[in-house]
Amino acid sequence: MTPEEFRHFGHQLIDWVADYRAGIAERPVMARTAPGEVKSRLPTAPPEQPEDFAVVFRDLERLILPGLSHWQHPHFFGYFPANAAFASVLGDYFSTGLGVLGLSWQASPALTELEEVVTDWMRQLVGLSEAWSGVIQDTASTCTLVALLCARERTTNYSMSRSGLQAEAQPLVVYTSDQSHSSVEKAALLAGFGRANVRRIAHDEAYALRPTELEAAICQDVREGRKPCAVIATAGTTVCTAFDPIDAIAAIARQHDLWLHVDAAMAGAAMILPECRRLWQGIEEADSLVFNAHKWPGAVFDCSLYYVRDPEHLIRVMSTNPSYLQSSADGRVKNLRDWGIPLGRRFRALKLWCLLRAEGVANLQARLRRDLANAQWLAEQVRSTSLWRVVAPVPLQTVCIRHEPPDLEGEALDRHTLAWVERINRSGAAYLTPAILDGCWMVRVSIGTEATEREHVAALWERMRQEVERA
Ligand SMILES: *Cc1c(COP(=O)(O)O)cnc(C)c1O
Repeated sequence: MTPEEFRHFGHQLIDWVADYRAGIAERPVMARTAPGEVKSRLPTAPPEQPEDFAVVFRDLERLILPGLSHWQHPHFFGYFPANAAFASVLGDYFSTGLGVLGLSWQASPALTELEEVVTDWMRQLVGLSEAWSGVIQDTASTCTLVALLCARERTTNYSMSRSGLQAEAQPLVVYTSDQSHSSVEKAALLAGFGRANVRRIAHDEAYALRPTELEAAICQDVREGRKPCAVIATAGTTVCTAFDPIDAIAAIARQHDLWLHVDAAMAGAAMILPECRRLWQGIEEADSLVFNAHKWPGAVFDCSLYYVRDPEHLIRVMSTNPSYLQSSADGRVKNLRDWGIPLGRRFRALKLWCLLRAEGVANLQARLRRDLANAQWLAEQVRSTSLWRVVAPVPLQTVCIRHEPPDLEGEALDRHTLAWVERINRSGAAYLTPAILDGCWMVRVSIGTEATEREHVAALWERMRQEVERA
């Protein structure tokens, strides 16, 4: 492709995306694609000869677009908000257009230094002290894996430089709540702890980890000859945005010399609002922390912020220093390859920088407050309507709902719940993700797409009430 062709199709693409966003509300939210349908329309082998990009462009619209659910849709209430604010999209285009990599500071100095600046901006925005240093990773899953590798190496005094976990005298144990994200268990397994050494601690009536149960589990492991290593607390669980009591957990972690990692992937962004910070009281006692700028705040995926209090330890666990990556600046700069797993680093800081500058903190805060108010409004409507129930506290922007007709319970109630949510999703009017809470299906309404206003939440509520009658 020539620069002139690039210019031509580039303009066309930007126009296309702007039109797509402007008209997104007209589209069915969830893809109505059958498994294998998209693949069946695509050639099985790559083209031998070049194709006109105009044809490729048409195929994007004709073949790919119908196979997508629309995450930026104002009626998207599934999973979690994954906002892709226009300004961050432009920042990402800029990064992609530059095509630079940050293998070391020297490889692209501004890439590293802007990342230092924006992670520090975000630190300030969520009210963390200067004791924290940040880096951008791809996902929270990766950050939690990095945290557990660091925990493992601290507890074993760098077993990796000897014979690794395989030579440890005692098995190391990791603790988390039974409501924590699947990525926590996955990270523990990948870090070599083994399923037998991952404790899922019971939750209380607000779906938060019970510190007394944590303490009891630790003591039992110690009595039985195992070595407690790390606890992962969740600030904002996936199913219902419950907050584990960080301060109580931190006190236990300190007493037993455990690494404390806080998974705030979704809810960390709420701390941009000072009034929410009580929800993670004790956060300064943690060793590491992750939250995703690519969820609620609006930096287009992927942009996960990982903070640590002891960067020296992180670097000691992660560093590599082959000759071809060394430079004369090394003593005076950060080489972010030593702050995580991959060597290659995209210029992710750009999209966050563009987002923060174009939106400004005041507007960002106003948007998050709008979403919290919409969630409270919906919860009020549900609570005041007979046969409807809000089944978990609503500390944030997710409302967990069940419609409970008097004659239904157990599996019949589950069938009813799954049927009405499926009807809504199939209709294209909205997208919701049901989940299991206390063994029973319920429907999560996750509010916070940038385009979602009160009217969209009200329309959803209207739709839900109609849909449950239509068995
Ligand atoms: C979304 C989420 C994750 C996973 O995030 P990725 O960035 O996709 O790995 C983990 N934990 C919590 C609490 C989440 O909300």
